[in-house]
Parts: sequence; C-alpha cells; structure tokens
Amino acid sequence: MNGGASEPREVIIIGSGPAGLTAAIYTARANLHPLVIEGEPSSTSDQPGGQLMLTTEVENFPGFPDGVLGPELMAGFRAQAERFGAELLTAKATSVDFSEQPYRVWVGEACYRGRTVIVSTGAQSLLLGLHDEERLIGHGVSTCATCDGFFFRGQDIAVVGGGDSALEEATFLTRFAAKVYVVHRREELRASKIMQNRAFANERIEFLWNRQVTAIRGDDRLEGITLTDTQSGRRTELDVTGLFIAIGHRPNTDLFSAWLARKPNGYLVTEPGSTRTNVEGVFACGDVQDDIYRQAVTAAGSGCQAAIDAERWLEAHGH
Ligand code: NAP
Repeated sequence: MNGGASEPREVIIIGSGPAGLTAAIYTARANLHPLVIEGEPSSTSDQPGGQLMLTTEVENFPGFPDGVLGPELMAGFRAQAERFGAELLTAKATSVDFSEQPYRVWVGEACYRGRTVIVSTGAQSLLLGLHDEERLIGHGVSTCATCDGFFFRGQDIAVVGGGDSALEEATFLTRFAAKVYVVHRREELRASKIMQNRAFANERIEFLWNRQVTAIRGDDRLEGITLTDTQSGRRTELDVTGLFIAIGHRPNTDLFSAWLARKPNGYLVTEPGSTRTNVEGVFACGDVQDDIYRQAVTAAGSGCQAAIDAERWLEAHGH
C-alpha cells in the first residue's frame, strides 16, 4: 500500500447514502472541502446513494408531499453536496488506518489522508438469494414495511422471517393488507413473547410453519411465490402481491473491524447523544450505527450531527 499520499483533507466521508451526503452538504458549506468516497455502482451492498437506490417511491421523506423516487431523492442529495464543493469519488474504500493523525483511507493503491473521518457505510438487508429477487425490489418485493406497507392496501402479502422484525412488520402491515402470511422456516419463532402474542392474536395474520420461499414470480411486478415445506419437500404456490423480507440486516463495518468498537450485532458503537466513535476524530452516522430506526430521515439527521461533531473537533484541535 502507498503510505505517502496527498495533502491531508479536513474531512473524508466514507459512504454516500442520506447520512454521508448530508454530512457532505454540511461540511462543504462549512468550507471543509469534504472528500466523499461514495461506493461502487456495480455493487448492491455499497452502491452510491445507499439503500434508497433499491427502492421506488419514497413517500415518508419530509418535503415531498407527492412522494419521490429513491434514486431521484439521492440525486438531489448528491447535487446539493456538489453545489457546495464536496468532491465525490466513485470508488470503494478498501482499507483504513486510524493509528495516527492524519488518518489514512485507501482506495486500491491511492491513499487519502484526513484529519477527521465520517463513516456512513450503511447496512444492507439480508436477502434470500433467489432468482429475480433483486429485480423485483420496489415492484412487490420489499425490505421495509414502514416504507412500502402503504402500497399494499387490501392485498394479500407475505413476510419472511421469524424474528422481532418479521413479526413487527407483519403486525404493522395488517393496517393495510387484507391478509398477511408469515413464512417461517421452523415451527418455533425467534421473536420475543410479547411480539409473538400480538401476532398470534391478530386475525389477519396466518403463520405458515416449516416453509421456505424457494422461488418468486412476476414480470413487471410480483405475482406469487413458491413455498417448499422443509420437512416433506412438498412445494405449494401462494398468490401474493407483496413479499417483505425480514430476515435481518448486516451493517457494512468489515473495513473498520481493527479500529472501531462494534456491538455484538456488528453495528458501530457511538457515544450516546453524539456520533463520536472510540477513535478521536472518527465519527459514525446513519444505518452503520443505527440498529433501531433505520430510516432515511434519521440517517440524514445523524449525518448532520456527524458534520457538526467533526467541525467542532477540527476547531478544538486548531485546524
Ligand atoms: P433476527 O432476530 O436475526 O431474525 C431473523 C429471522 O429470519 C430468524 O427467524 C431466522 O430464522 C430468519 N432467517 C434468517 N435467514 C433466513 C433465510 N435465509 N431464509 C429464511 N429465514 C431466514 O433478525 P431481526 O428480526 O431483524 O432482529 C434483529 C435484532 O433486532 C434482534 O435482536 C431483535 O430482537 C431486534 N429487534 C427488536 C425489535 C423490537 O423490539 N421492537 C424489532 C425488530 C428487531 P431462524 O429463527 O430459523 O434462525
């Protein structure tokens, strides 16, 4: 690796979802000339723009009374950051070294040095790995009930998973859907008792035990799914127009494992009420440190906090 490198930047931002680009807008407006290492377009885990690039209509981002397409919303974030002078590099950060100031971030052979680093690499929803699954995201397949539930009024839909997320989403979705099937691969749930009791008491929820979703079908939109019984191997078809995948999330933190403290579930630890990590001058915002809310608007809010925290840190350290 090249240890030499260019002049240190005040701020390097890794990741370009709502958190990273909000941090870029704020730090650019504060004249800190941020470099945003935005990710690689070919990837589904760290594509520039983050998870909103995989959605269609976003109706809950304030300021858009008629809704906005996820990619369009992110194009707006990007243009706004560039307007104030943020520099965007379309590439993936491959390694970091936070052992001494200025910190180093590599993109392949190229080394960038930053006095502060804002980590906003996000998280990815785990998917089932089925043919056409990614293609139908935003067209019947969803990984976020809060975001997309509204579009399934009066329809029959399925939720996959047996944890708290699956049951929380299933219960939430009964506000809209006529019927919600919970497809679980075992006959015992992982979810907490209180969530289980709430779901069992809900007349619109039906559990399909010992079943895996093994295929999905639909041209422009989801039309149905194939279930395979894990014990008998018998296959059945289920006509649903919505499939919510709630089998967990994975934060994109591998790059930082040697430097930043992580919770047992892999999310970065930040000091309560701030975006500070365990390394001075390194801040984390958005889904990479949020295993609770995971919303675009909360990610953007924490990106703003990280920018202000970085700005204050630079000022306190005479930069
Ligand atoms: P989780 O607890 O890891 O549960 C994932 C579920 O998906 C499990 O039931 C698992 O089945 C199933 N699953 C995993 N891979 C699968 C696959 N390839 N095919 C089919 N099913 C698969 O994840 P989570 O529900 O997202 O929860 C994550 C954490 O957040 C938990 O600690 C949870 O308590 C917490 N949480 C809390 C709340 C709340 O309190 N309001 C709400 C949401 C989440 P198995 O059971 O067979 O492994």
